[in-house]
Amino acid sequence: MYATAVISQSALVHNLSVVKAHAKSAKIVCVVKADGYGHQLGLISPLIEGADVLAVSEITQAAKLRQKTKRPILLLSGIYSEHDLQQAVMLDCQIVVHHRSQIRLILDTQRKINVWIKIDTGMHRLGLSGKEYVACLAQFNVNPNINIISIMSHFACADEPSHPLNKKQLAYFKRLTNATTARSMANSAAILSQPESLFEFVRPGIMLYGASPFVETHNLQPAMQLSAPILSIKTVQKGAQVGYGAIWKADKKTVLAIIGIGYGDGYPRHAKSGTPVMINNALCPLVGRVSMDFICVDISKIKASIGDRAIVWGDKKLPVETIAKYSDTISYELLTGVSSRVKFTTTA
Ligand SMILES: *Cc1c(COP(=O)(O)O)cnc(C)c1O
Repeated sequence: MYATAVISQSALVHNLSVVKAHAKSAKIVCVVKADGYGHQLGLISPLIEGADVLAVSEITQAAKLRQKTKRPILLLSGIYSEHDLQQAVMLDCQIVVHHRSQIRLILDTQRKINVWIKIDTGMHRLGLSGKEYVACLAQFNVNPNINIISIMSHFACADEPSHPLNKKQLAYFKRLTNATTARSMANSAAILSQPESLFEFVRPGIMLYGASPFVETHNLQPAMQLSAPILSIKTVQKGAQVGYGAIWKADKKTVLAIIGIGYGDGYPRHAKSGTPVMINNALCPLVGRVSMDFICVDISKIKASIGDRAIVWGDKKLPVETIAKYSDTISYELLTGVSSRVKFTTTA
């Protein structure tokens, strides 16, 4: 309705260069699932043009992406039917095989296909067991239509570098694989903290969009700035209660700005009172509950007028990680949750 998300092209370029600086000689699989982590596939061309491979979850996203680029597209969830396989081949996708039910479909292919084999090394979500992997590899290796691009696995705890599961997963992966095929393990957190996990392909997602998986920013720049205008300003007296549930009470005379953004736009309803909102370059505290269309902010300490824009995330002083912390979630959920009524644009 009133909220705007501006996608910074230079931030995307910069973040990709940060990935490249960490990745050494590894090729870059830019993960653009969930419409580019909510940034919209149409607005992230620096990533599309700069990637060695682009990764999406499902075929509908692959089809959308294929209209924009000839680059390799990796289908992370793979195929579930003959029809999926035909579509994936038609779109010239590389296909992840992560479950034994997918092996038969792939073996039956009449056309040449490029596959990635995914091993479950300890996250216990997607991936073949070690035994299944060995059997799958043997079958794929003797099928002339199947070209294995890379073997992959995914960390469960990469954002906690000292977690013992990281070492365990990496050791198991190394035990099962060898350098005769390309390998891939690292997501953003591993790229930044586990150089021994880089191998031949790295798979950055969140860091491309400028959010760090760690407290340290790693010199990343927010790619999305989400803002909305002040729609109303009012002064309330000490003791006044603000918003649904009257959960916040003014402990002194307070000037409030009512901003045109709420959970209907993807601003988290669970953001606590005190969550910073940036108005005219100053950080001001959110007060009371977030409603569908509005938030209320204490602007007693600053000068502001109706129409001034409030940045709710995506400034160096107000990264989306801060809002995530105040609402008990992660940046991924906030970025992918920006709703369709928000107007998207780009800036250099
Ligand atoms: C989403 C995803 C990534 C990217 O993870 P980030 O934490 O966003 O860097 C990498 N690999 C796979 C298999 C994924 O699903």
